[in-house]
Amino acid sequence: MQTELNGLQQSDLREWMQTINEPAFRGSQLFTHFHKHGQTDLSYITGFGEALRKKVAANGRVDGAEIIRTLPAKNGRSIKYGLRLSDDRIVEAVFMRYPTHNTLCISTQVGCAMGCAFCASTKDGLIRNLRTGEMTAQVYATERASGETIQNLVLMGIGEPLQNYTNTVAALRILHDPDGKGMSYRNISLSTCGIVPNMRRLAEEDMPINLVISLHAANDRKRREIMPIAEHYTIQEVIAAADDYFEKTGRRISYEYTLIPGVNDTENDLKELIQLLKGRQAHVNLIAYHPIKEYQKTRPDATALQRFSARLNAGGIRTTVRKSIGLEEQGACGQLRAQENRRQEVQYGNSDKNR
Ligand code: SF4
Repeated sequence: MQTELNGLQQSDLREWMQTINEPAFRGSQLFTHFHKHGQTDLSYITGFGEALRKKVAANGRVDGAEIIRTLPAKNGRSIKYGLRLSDDRIVEAVFMRYPTHNTLCISTQVGCAMGCAFCASTKDGLIRNLRTGEMTAQVYATERASGETIQNLVLMGIGEPLQNYTNTVAALRILHDPDGKGMSYRNISLSTCGIVPNMRRLAEEDMPINLVISLHAANDRKRREIMPIAEHYTIQEVIAAADDYFEKTGRRISYEYTLIPGVNDTENDLKELIQLLKGRQAHVNLIAYHPIKEYQKTRPDATALQRFSARLNAGGIRTTVRKSIGLEEQGACGQLRAQENRRQEVQYGNSDKNR
């Protein structure tokens, strides 16, 4: 496969230009075109003659992400996008408008191998990793479509970012480059189910992004029932790696806890969670389970969420209930992709599964 040009750091793009016998500064111009102007189409690049454009196109590839579905929330503040990649795979991104900033949640893989029981994104397994340029392209495509600038990024869409470590870290470095989008690392949050070796690796990257741990249970037995990754790493190992991340980066750790009635909402769950996180620089995001057909559990009501949250706060664990972004009717993360695959299966007789 040809080099993905919009997946290269600026310095690598300058070197690449020299390999096709062009001056290095052309690489910086290309980087600006991709990451400051958010373009993936080489025909719009200014300062490049037709011969140079053709030479670049013949020697490298540029990956995009084309918006094919737009599902706005009724509250007018959030939009779920379905994006098609160059091989027709579908991923999702969610744009969220807040009073002070805009946040985008992007995907890092097509599907996911992690198998969390409550998650629609994993039901067909992992299809493939996203390439670096496919991650940055989600940012630029949604900025263009919404007409707004994205200040904050969360890696909580389809996929486990730390299973696609190299491409994910490369995408974040590109988005941080001041000659590109110049996004602050402090405005980036990465959510992981707890791939311990890569959490430790991330702590050494000199990239102080916010780390979010998908915890969802406070003891190993229960966590193994809903998250297969817990067969590989115990909660204590995950927490130790998170503590190490905090020590090395100074960034507070958030723990996501999806409240699932009848699964992880008992008095004992509450006590174990308090015991686990007490005294740590930790913050709990309490999330209402969003039912999917493959995991028939009910959604907790607002009172149950508030009660659980109040008890955690009273126990010394700073907790907030994640506010609805108004996209409940559009389905849980991964459902738009599943719907789109089914639609294509009916229309064209194919889907992610058999392509
Ligand atoms: S919750 Fe995250 S890690 Fe778990 S299956 Fe879904 S996408 Fe993968």
